Amino acid sequence: MYRGRFAPSPTGPLHAGSLVAALASWLDARAHGGRWLVRMEDVDTPRCVPGADELILQQLAACGLVSDEPVLAQSQRGALYQQALDKLMEHGRAYPCGCSRKDIEAALQAMGITRARHHAAVYPGTCRPDRGGLQGKRPRAWRFAVEPTGGNVHWTDRRLGPQTQNVATEVGDFILKRADGLWAYQLAVVVDDAAQGITHVVRGEDLADNTARQILLQEALGLPTPAYLHTPLVLGENGEKLSKQNGAQALDVSDPTAALNQAAGHLGLTSHAGPPAAALARWVLAWPHTG
Ligand code: GLU
Repeated sequence: MYRGRFAPSPTGPLHAGSLVAALASWLDARAHGGRWLVRMEDVDTPRCVPGADELILQQLAACGLVSDEPVLAQSQRGALYQQALDKLMEHGRAYPCGCSRKDIEAALQAMGITRARHHAAVYPGTCRPDRGGLQGKRPRAWRFAVEPTGGNVHWTDRRLGPQTQNVATEVGDFILKRADGLWAYQLAVVVDDAAQGITHVVRGEDLADNTARQILLQEALGLPTPAYLHTPLVLGENGEKLSKQNGAQALDVSDPTAALNQAAGHLGLTSHAGPPAAALARWVLAWPHTG
């Protein structure tokens, strides 16, 4: 049974780009006779805006997009994430890290690695258990131990086709629990997609880069890997993707038909305007069920 989801972070209201992902995941679920769930990804509490969760649900409802099951909030699910972290630790796939950002920079410099500005650092593995572990440092964050030889992940996106990422060399041992005690998106999303029985993830293309990390986590936790489809991003006038961070305007749902038409157009559906059934049929033909 198909189970899909839309998983907004309540850091502000939805913008035009978020509706594209929401509509795509809803259409895909409906086209395959499945269920569609909304999940509030509010783990990064400092970035969450009070009331944004309600506002998002209202914006979705105005467009006829209503979760088929009660909306889960990740902020209530810490116990599950802890269980997953414990399991990874037991299997030697997670370890505490005592490095500050400065420590990481210094270690990379000592290894002669300079990195392009704005490029996230690949963690040099200083606190890996096989390198001596914390060595007296206070644990700050918890990291996933990417297997040096098993870090090459291949997966097929239903829209983008075959994808490859070497998580060991391109990302490194990524964070599962942050130094400030908050759960990392990667762990929370993997635990919840599995707990909710999600079979198909449909989300914006800006998130495609996370998929390889999520697949490694699923494998390490013995969880199934859903099918993935990443939808085209909506770019602002400056050519950058619309995001709450760069001040994208809140989605105007005073005319829901116009908002939905615009989102559908972005997915290539309006040039073949017709009854909803025709749009669904086109959707199924354009992006097959599995990868
Ligand atoms: N919460 C994430 C975001 O709003 C989406 C996560 C996902 O769909 O996997 O960017």
